[in-house]
Amino acid sequence: MKKWYTIIPNSPWLSLYLWIIFCLLPFFSLFKNASATEIGVAGMLVVIYVIFNRCSAMSRSGLLYMWISFEMVISLVMTVFYGYVYLAIFTAFSIGTIRRPVGFYIMYGLHVGFTVIATGVTFFLKFDVLFAQLPFVIFTLIGVVLMPFTLYTKTRREKLEGQLETAKDRIAELIVFEERQRIARDLHDTLGQKLSMIGLKSDLAARLIERDKEQALTEIKEIRQTASIALKEVRELVANMRTTRFEDELTRVSQILRAAEMTFVFDGDIETLDVPPLVENVLSMCLKEAVTNVVKHSNATKCEIGFHQNFKEVYLVVRDNGDGVTLKNKKTGNGLKGMQERLEFINGSFKLENDQGTALTVTIPVAITHQDVTEKVDTLYNKE
Ligand code: ADP
Ligand code: CA
Repeated sequence: MKKWYTIIPNSPWLSLYLWIIFCLLPFFSLFKNASATEIGVAGMLVVIYVIFNRCSAMSRSGLLYMWISFEMVISLVMTVFYGYVYLAIFTAFSIGTIRRPVGFYIMYGLHVGFTVIATGVTFFLKFDVLFAQLPFVIFTLIGVVLMPFTLYTKTRREKLEGQLETAKDRIAELIVFEERQRIARDLHDTLGQKLSMIGLKSDLAARLIERDKEQALTEIKEIRQTASIALKEVRELVANMRTTRFEDELTRVSQILRAAEMTFVFDGDIETLDVPPLVENVLSMCLKEAVTNVVKHSNATKCEIGFHQNFKEVYLVVRDNGDGVTLKNKKTGNGLKGMQERLEFINGSFKLENDQGTALTVTIPVAITHQDVTEKVDTLYNKE
């Protein structure tokens, strides 16, 4: 969603074009009838201003405030003495790059205050001059008020997005690490023990085979049994490895939305979720993809997640109040395609529509899933 104060065009070439029209034209009209000295002094002030402006653009330290203050002084002098108010817009631009909120608001307040006062005073001193360029002056004042906010929020948003990416990477690393530890533990506790038992019993059976065939046969049967149990345990381990709990995913996406400064609303009862691990896995994947898309593409301020399961189907909706989605955009990415493939595997489906933003609805039939998924997983295991 575009904020009300977004007035700067995104394309740098368009902005450049606007600035040239906006600043050069008034400059020529103002100094058309001026004396050579006046033009010389004004030109020098503008050159000094440009130097300060460049310094503030490159400065990342506390000196930034000093350069901006110098810019403000020159802009005020040019306004009061020459009726040239347009430098204020470049100072507004410099103020928009300040990162610290307190510094930003102080400089912003001072700049707006001084510019308005100076323009007011100039109206009395040089009414004719300012009146002749009234639309430009009004446009400048609007820019001085709105532009710093546009830039400030943009910088903040970019910083937050960077932090969000780092946080997501870190979470992913931790999850992988934890998962590895768990697999190692499980393998040691289950499979390791069973395999050493199989080894011991095989030795015993080998020794018994000549002396006591009957006992040797019993041992071999037990080896067979242990091997079956071990196989079953490996299957369970693999099935668990494949499951991302829906509840955990919900917690993760709520954290992601909070980090992206979006309001998060959940409507539903997770307790009612009762599906095989594979279905839960797909459901979690859909939730993650949908929420990532909201954060990445929607420009929304709010994201609602609804969940519901009845005897017929599982139903998940992720709704945002952002820009909405176009038919063309829908087909461009791999995320939605992957979602569709996985849902098809468990007879589910999804639809993505515009509804005062975007709404993604996932539906998975329950009655079929239990039976179907068991069959499909069995086919998979038999292949393995
Ligand atoms: P990717 O995220 O890699 O671009 P996806 O397949 O996940 O690919 O999404 C396809 C496109 O659909 C996105 O590029 C985006 O334009 C659009 N889209 C998806 N979800 C949303 C949303 N919540 N709001 C706006 N646009 C969206
Ligand atoms: Ca995506």
